[in-house]
Amino acid sequence: MANLSVSRRVQSLKPSVTVAFMNRAKAMQSQGKDVLSFAAGEPDFDTPDIIKYAAINALTKGQTKYMPTLGDPATRAAIAKKLTEENGLPNCTTDHITIGAGGKHSLFVLAHVLIDEPKPGEPQQEVILPVPAWVSYAPIVELAGGKIVEVPTTVDTAFKATAQQIKQAITPNTRMLILNSPSNPCGTMYTPDELKAIGAVVEEAARTIAPNIIVLSDELYEKIIYGGIRHFSIGSMSQIAERVITLNGLSKAYGMTGWRIGYTGSSGEFGKKFTNAMATLQGQMSTNITSFTYPSIRAALTQCAGEVEMMRQAFAKRAELINVRMGKLPGIKNAKATGAFYAFPDVSAYFGKTSKGGRKIDSAMSMSEALLEESLLAFVPGEDFGGCGKNHVRISFACSEEQINKGMDRFAEFLSSLR
Ligand code: PLP
Repeated sequence: MANLSVSRRVQSLKPSVTVAFMNRAKAMQSQGKDVLSFAAGEPDFDTPDIIKYAAINALTKGQTKYMPTLGDPATRAAIAKKLTEENGLPNCTTDHITIGAGGKHSLFVLAHVLIDEPKPGEPQQEVILPVPAWVSYAPIVELAGGKIVEVPTTVDTAFKATAQQIKQAITPNTRMLILNSPSNPCGTMYTPDELKAIGAVVEEAARTIAPNIIVLSDELYEKIIYGGIRHFSIGSMSQIAERVITLNGLSKAYGMTGWRIGYTGSSGEFGKKFTNAMATLQGQMSTNITSFTYPSIRAALTQCAGEVEMMRQAFAKRAELINVRMGKLPGIKNAKATGAFYAFPDVSAYFGKTSKGGRKIDSAMSMSEALLEESLLAFVPGEDFGGCGKNHVRISFACSEEQINKGMDRFAEFLSSLR
């Protein structure tokens, strides 16, 4: 039996560090330890009742059978309307919408729809990724046969890649540019002008050296913004709309991480071709998502503005609190959070020191280990987010202000105890 193995494909796949730290924190909590967890990338708010009742109602009415692979027409139409009216996608109709089992699932399917394995002798298709970035992009892209081309960013520029940097990274092999605004793990977002400048670079590259370039715009956190920057969908730029796939979902905006609902929207002729290909692949993967949740999607998109605003305001207050607390920690460099619910401070000034428990702190990982074991504080080490992430820890502030204050007290104490 010892020779039995799983596929090489999966052997080379990295498990999520975020999930690992979240699970360790949970396990320690269940042993009665007073662990304060800032690891999970999910809102602490429950799903609004109106969304729950829409599903309960559909269940009791017997909406429990297979449905069309990409979703029922009414729900796809509601998403197309939202993307058209709120996000300004031109030429986005029901036929341009795919609904999958979470943004991550939709990302997985679209990566396989858009990225080819190289034929013998051909170069690999390149996917440009400003880093630090969400931990799942690289593994998913690589599994599909793509090669990640990192564009480094730093805390000093709020982790934003410039149009010039993107331009320099584009080659004839570029297949995709991934943008994520607001960003996980950085907690910052691009201004409309910054995105327009990047869009102009894409438009020029598409005409010249990279005719196959596609932009994937991950807008999962679009509703959680509070820094005075307007959310802008790059898919609204008519010059490039047909080559932009907008990825979104209900997890973050509506407190629905466990429901597993994600979607993509696109535009024009290529958008339809892309959508049909998504249907083919998803049809051999998972078929439709849970049937009785479609009415909940419509309820979320059309009837929950008040709840979304209440959550946004709570996140805004928490972000303010964490920005203030972080600013008081000596040696810690932090970009002001403007979107999503993450702080991503540079902690490298403390590398080379030793913790009270005798742990040598020489990386974000060793600091996160010491924080969890000695101060019962769960942050996520930044190494797997790429680029300068190795000098950072991710702090998810999707929790009460009381927990944020307690956590920041412990963090401050831990830092001052390092020798
Ligand atoms: N995109 C980003 C940037 C994320 O942080 C996440 C989840 O953490 C997702 C996409 C996927 O979320 P879900 O699969 O819950 O829709």
